Amino acid sequence: MSADFPPSWYASSLPEPAALPPLRGDVQADVAVLGAGYTGLTAALELAQRGYRVMLLEAQRIGWGASGRNGGQALVGYGCEVDELERQLGRDDARHLFDWSREAVQSMRQRIARHGIDCHWVEGHASVAIRARHERDLRAGCEHLQRHYDYPMQWWERDVLHAQLDSPRYRAAMFDPLSAHLHPLAYARGLADAARAAGVAIHEHSPVTRVQRGAQATLHTAQGSVRAAHLVVAGNALLQGLLPELECRVMPVGTYIGASVPLGAERARQLIRNDMAVADTAWALDYFRLSHDHRLLFGGRASYSALPPPGLRGVMQRRMHEVFPQLADVALEQVWGGYVDITRNRAPHWGRLDGNLYFAQGFSGHGVAAAGLAGEVIAAAIDSQSARLDVFQRLQHAPFPGGRLLRMPLLVAAMSWYKLRDALW
Ligand SMILES: Cc1cc2nc3c(=O)[nH]c(=O)nc-3n(C[C@H](O)[C@H](O)[C@H](O)COP(=O)(O)OP(=O)(O)OC[C@H]3O[C@@H](n4cnc5c(N)ncnc54)[C@H](O)[C@@H]3O)c2cc1C
Repeated sequence: MSADFPPSWYASSLPEPAALPPLRGDVQADVAVLGAGYTGLTAALELAQRGYRVMLLEAQRIGWGASGRNGGQALVGYGCEVDELERQLGRDDARHLFDWSREAVQSMRQRIARHGIDCHWVEGHASVAIRARHERDLRAGCEHLQRHYDYPMQWWERDVLHAQLDSPRYRAAMFDPLSAHLHPLAYARGLADAARAAGVAIHEHSPVTRVQRGAQATLHTAQGSVRAAHLVVAGNALLQGLLPELECRVMPVGTYIGASVPLGAERARQLIRNDMAVADTAWALDYFRLSHDHRLLFGGRASYSALPPPGLRGVMQRRMHEVFPQLADVALEQVWGGYVDITRNRAPHWGRLDGNLYFAQGFSGHGVAAAGLAGEVIAAAIDSQSARLDVFQRLQHAPFPGGRLLRMPLLVAAMSWYKLRDALW
């Protein structure tokens, strides 16, 4: 593995592709895209398929951001509950947004099949409740989706859940048969291959240092520039001062995952018999699933500073053992992390500035499927079909008060309260 790709089980389970050459010189395109995660790659692919000349600039490597490191849970819905969408947009448009997220998971599945991406897609996801309060809220949410969104969500009492998931920690589950899990870095690289085959020029190791806005907008790097009629900014939590008016509406939060040593097919299958992905509903959630080579991939533990928390591997291991006491002899072989970009209301923040600068951020830890939807919605809007983007753009987002330095302590205080609440009842 090369030193410029962050270590993870994902990276070590795939051969490392040769780096694509950085941008050199000044060039022109129809669309210039910043960021080779799911948002930028899907927008680029969709636009190239519509006949646009697309250039994509990536600061590091394809999938270097959240798209190459995440929990791999491709979920229907968004980071917020549908209540927030209903409160802001009304039931009809909330329903549209929800239905589009449902289609987004299907589009991923179709894209994987169409482009032959080998990324271990497995359907089924359970949201599990630890406490009575979580169970009440989860059940109400499940019934709401069944009744008002015609969604085939299932309610599982303890015995049904325990027949599939061998953990004493959970009381009940909302089972979603359509959400799925996959190898996230393999999917990101497969998308990039598909985009390049469709004609997209991708430059790695090409950090954008300045965004020049206007009719002929330009992305500048240290060694060149791309001038284009349309810009797509898909830098997620990693923009670092390029567009402060967007960045003040998201907070980068560190979150972490570990991969256990291989458990063997039989022992792995005993833990999660139907191979579904699982996430609990606590504020500082745990989420986990099996890998195709029979490891447990276990995520959780947020951090509100730029540094990984001390003793991270031990903390993650203890959490894994609380969920699966039968794995007391099992260690996490690798632990890694990345940033999620949360908005204050956890709703997605997608839209357009100046008429030709498109952006999507604020996935709030729920972007594996939604980021691909953002790419599709932005590509359609550039191609004069902006109806879906217009609905997303109606979602209001308050900025985090103060600059980056003040945002952190405020969030830490808020998170400590929610963690305390989870611990008490
Ligand atoms: C540890 C972790 C676990 C997660 N688990 C899940 C999960 O299980 N399910 C789920 O739905 N979501 C999950 N998420 C969130 C999900 O991964 C993201 O919402 C999604 O990948 C965002 O995709 P993106 O393309 O918008 O951003 P990213 O994948 O972050 O891509 C942004 C890219 O832009 C590049 N970039 C930034 N600035 C510049 C610049 N100046 N010039 C050029 N390039 C630039 C970056 O290098 C990066 O490659 C998780 C996130 C993390 C970090």
